[in-house]
Amino acid sequence: MVLNITCIPGDGIGPEIVNQAKKVLEAVAKKYGHEMKFTDILMGGASIDACGEPLTDEAIATAKAADAVLMGSIGGNTSTSPWYKLPPEKRPEAGLLKIRKALNLFANLRPAYLYEELAAACPLKEEISKAGFDMLIMRELTGGLYFGERKTVEENGELKAIDTLTYSESEIRRIAIKGFEIARKRRKKVTSVDKANVLDSSRLWRKVVNEVAADYPDVTVEHMLVDNCAMQLVKDPAQFDVILTENMFGDILSDEASMVTGSIGMLSSASLNDTKFGLYEPSHGSAPDIAGQDIANPIATVLSAAMMLRYSFDLDKEADVIEGAVRQVLKDGYRTVDIYSEGMKKVSCSEMGDLLCERV
Ligand code: NAD
Repeated sequence: MVLNITCIPGDGIGPEIVNQAKKVLEAVAKKYGHEMKFTDILMGGASIDACGEPLTDEAIATAKAADAVLMGSIGGNTSTSPWYKLPPEKRPEAGLLKIRKALNLFANLRPAYLYEELAAACPLKEEISKAGFDMLIMRELTGGLYFGERKTVEENGELKAIDTLTYSESEIRRIAIKGFEIARKRRKKVTSVDKANVLDSSRLWRKVVNEVAADYPDVTVEHMLVDNCAMQLVKDPAQFDVILTENMFGDILSDEASMVTGSIGMLSSASLNDTKFGLYEPSHGSAPDIAGQDIANPIATVLSAAMMLRYSFDLDKEADVIEGAVRQVLKDGYRTVDIYSEGMKKVSCSEMGDLLCERV
């Protein structure tokens, strides 16, 4: 199979970690007889410096012509970088919003997985963390409070601010279908999270999710109120497989789930549209504090590349091989500095890439 992949190395540690992911993908391609065609585009600060804007139309056209996009991270030090003296629409992050919109990416996926070898980094009590957990938060990305009408008015001599939370049936249906499809590739359980005891948008959410669930009799569905879900994530995270939720609840819950793993350098993510197309990137930022030193952890990006193989190319076996290589490298005691603990073997970003390739 020929895989056309647009890469966005981005800023900070972005180019270093994307290089490792490319190496690992090449190793997988060699093993299984695929051909990787990588095309790099600029985005974020790198594009501001070279082209005067965070993402050009030509770069978007290149991304659109690919099968999938693999990204490092964008942005610089928000206090010292000159990029942050520019107006908001010209700053690095504007590139990310622009590409998400241009590619119609409405479903954000963030897995949270606790590796046995890194369990000490988990902030939960041992009696809870010993059960492990392996969940995926699927967050709606284009609706809800973030995109509703908002205004601030003066009423009776004081300011009053209004934000609106809107969801249509079709917006809910398309993300619910994604959620059930992805649950089918995992442990076949969807926990739909809402606030149906208070919000009309949540009651519609629940109704549509139930309608979609009828088409997936092999997937178990349960509904959970968001406040309860926030508690359950720290009380019993092992119960979750796919958590399906709207934009703001997903924003908050996915950060909570990441913190519970305790290792930011290990967390991948994906943003999908209604085709097989997706943008895959680590959950962390561009880490300008450690850029250019070859010490960043490339595993989150490598795992994002595995998600790309699974969700955009249906290459499940190849994705399993990458995830297996990550588990094996940890078992063998290799650690980048961010996940290092005494007695382990400290390796650089590029050494970690090489070790992963060997295990593939
Ligand atoms: P960050 O995630 O970049 O860094 C937080 C801390 O974690 C730092 O100490 C960093 O060194 C460490 N870290 C992060 N990733 C690591 C890795 N792979 N290996 C080892 N250590 C790692 O968050 P921040 O400092 O708040 O943001 C830095 C820049 O990244 C900002 O410009 C921010 O806007 C941007 N950012 C971009 C994205 C994105 O591109 N999607 C996401 C988040 C933040």
